[in-house]
Amino acid sequence: ALFKYTAGSPLNLGILIGDAIMKGALASDLEFVQFHPTGFIGKGGVKLVSEAVRGAGAKLVNEDGERFVNELEPRDVVARAIYRKMQSGSRVYLDATGIENFKEKFPQIYSFLVKEGINPERDLIPVTPIAHYSIGGLKVDLHYRTNIKNLYAIGEAANNGFHGANRLASNSLLECIVSGLEVARTVRRDKPKGGSGEIRDTAQESGDIESVKEILWKYAGIVRNENGLLEGLKELEKLEVDERIKLLVKGILECALARKESRGVHYREDYPIIRKEFERHSIFNGRCML
Ligand SMILES: Cc1cc2nc3c(=O)[nH]c(=O)nc-3n(C[C@H](O)[C@H](O)[C@H](O)COP(=O)(O)OP(=O)(O)OC[C@H]3O[C@@H](n4cnc5c(N)ncnc54)[C@H](O)[C@@H]3O)c2cc1C
Repeated sequence: ALFKYTAGSPLNLGILIGDAIMKGALASDLEFVQFHPTGFIGKGGVKLVSEAVRGAGAKLVNEDGERFVNELEPRDVVARAIYRKMQSGSRVYLDATGIENFKEKFPQIYSFLVKEGINPERDLIPVTPIAHYSIGGLKVDLHYRTNIKNLYAIGEAANNGFHGANRLASNSLLECIVSGLEVARTVRRDKPKGGSGEIRDTAQESGDIESVKEILWKYAGIVRNENGLLEGLKELEKLEVDERIKLLVKGILECALARKESRGVHYREDYPIIRKEFERHSIFNGRCML
């Protein structure tokens, strides 16, 4: 939830990832943030109109009702196409009026749209890309061990390359199951000795989170470039925000700056192609190494 627009839980601010990095854990691939093409920003907050709706035949159209992208391209391609269309001044809509029995097929989506005054069986749905998933996280091995003894990480907080540079839809819940199962085996093998160490109150005031969200959305969003990322780092420096969050955000910006190429979900308009020399993971330990 460190980006301005996301349907993720507002409680997930990455504090514990930042905390672990401060204590010597390595993070990797922090620049790889996946954006979902079809978010919906309404009075009731940010929601997701799932891919399945496009899979069932919904079309993406501009204000004039014209299609501008193949809706079934990968998420990053569709998200960028929508972003560019919006940058050119047009609103973007999902036209699901051709889907029969929308209400029965997508009851939850139907329900929140109707509450917002949109009947998807009749009306166009205004959509916008939103931040969706962090591919990067604490660097773990195949058994979900970090580089700190007895510290394990699983799920979205961890990264061992499971999702490459571009997570496929539904694979994160799969990873939650795989990593949860595997880490249980690892802990049983490692038999870590208990010891609580220093536990800090994670519920303390986080500081100026709203500005953090603005910075990441503006400078480390769907389309990035060197000047923006440098500006983001400069603005971050001045913020009064929890130091652990600040460190994590620095990692995202610095690694996005260091990766002078476009690969998977990471898109640099100043380096719009994949480059062989960057075919490796970034590591962040307070500084980005790539
Ligand atoms: C709207 C939406 C739809 C999605 N749909 C799909 C899908 O269809 N298929 C799929 O594979 N993936 C989907 N994803 C992604 C998937 O849900 C997540 O990647 C997955 O839930 C991550 O699980 P997790 O256990 O790692 O983290 P979470 O489920 O986010 O759990 C982390 C927990 O840690 C708690 N926490 C955070 N910070 C602190 C702190 N400082 N102290 C104590 N507790 C803390 C949080 O409150 C939360 O309970 C979706 C994500 C979103 C946002």
